[in-house]
Amino acid sequence: MTEGAGHERTIPRVGLRCTIRFQARAAEERLTARTGFCRSVIMGQLGLTVENVRCIQWNQQEKAFDVTLMDLNIFNRVAETCVKEAGVSPLSDYRVVNLDRPNFRVVTEREPVSPVRGLALGEPTTVWRNVNHPALPNRLRDLSWMTAHEILPVRSVMHSRGMGANPTCPRQGCGAHETVRHVLWECTAAGDQWAMAGSLQFPYLPAGEVLTAQLVLYGVSPKKVPPALFQKQWLTLSAIKDAIWTSRNLLVRKRMLIPPVAVIRMAAATLKVVVAAGGRPRTQPQRSLASVPIRTWEPEPHN
Ligand SMILES: [Zn+2]
Repeated sequence: MTEGAGHERTIPRVGLRCTIRFQARAAEERLTARTGFCRSVIMGQLGLTVENVRCIQWNQQEKAFDVTLMDLNIFNRVAETCVKEAGVSPLSDYRVVNLDRPNFRVVTEREPVSPVRGLALGEPTTVWRNVNHPALPNRLRDLSWMTAHEILPVRSVMHSRGMGANPTCPRQGCGAHETVRHVLWECTAAGDQWAMAGSLQFPYLPAGEVLTAQLVLYGVSPKKVPPALFQKQWLTLSAIKDAIWTSRNLLVRKRMLIPPVAVIRMAAATLKVVVAAGGRPRTQPQRSLASVPIRTWEPEPHN
C-alpha cells in the first residue's frame, strides 16, 4: 500500500457486497475494541444478531470495522438506520461508509486497491483483477473474493469474530488452525486433493512444481503467462478451490468425508458447466453430489 494513502483510497474497486465500514473517528480503545463495538453498535444500536452478520473484519490501517451482513435485506435495514441515527451515540463516533457496489462509482481508476497480506507491493492490483476475473462465474468470484479478503467462514475466522468456539481444522488428526490458506492449500487434505488434481484431468493446470500458494490462492505468479492461457488456468484453479471448500463444508455440516478423487471429479464437473456456458461466464454452475443439496455459504452452525 502506498504510504500516506487517504481513507477513501483503500476502498477496493471491486466493491464489497453487503458490507458497511464503521471507521472510528478517534483512535480510542473504547471505539476500536471489537467486543465494545459489537456490544454497543452491532447488537445495541443496530439490534443485529449473530445470524444477521456474515463477518466483522477489523481493518487496522483504516481503524475501521468492515461489517458484512448476511443478505441485502439486512444490509438495507442497517444502512437505513445508519443514516437515520448518524448523529446518535455510539454510531456518531464512527464514520459510516457503504462499501457495497454503489460505492464503485466514486472510486477512480487511479486509486490503489486494498492490500492483501503477505503479498509484495504491486501484486494486489493483480489479485483484485483476478478476484473479479471475467472468466469466472459469480460463485467462483465470490470464493476468490472471500479468499483474498481472508473472510471465507473458516473456523479461525469465525472464532476471531466471536462466532465459533473452535478455531481448529475439522480434519481428523490435523490440529492446525483452520485459516483460509490452511483449508485451501496447507492442510494435508488439501495437499491430497491438489495432488489428485495434478493428474491428467486438467489440461490447464500448471505443472506441479510451479503450483504455489500465491498462484493457487490469488493467481499471482512470477512466471509470465499469456492472458488467454492464464484465464484457463485461473478458472481451473478456482473450480478446484471451490470443490475443496465444498468438501470441507460437507465434512463440517453433514459429516461426509469426500475422497480426493471425488472432490476433483466435482471440480471437473464445475469446469465443464462453466466452459459449456461459454459466452455467458456469469452464470452460476449448479452442482449436486449424490443428490445432497450443497449450501456452501451458510455459516457453520454454532451451539
Ligand atoms: Zn487441516
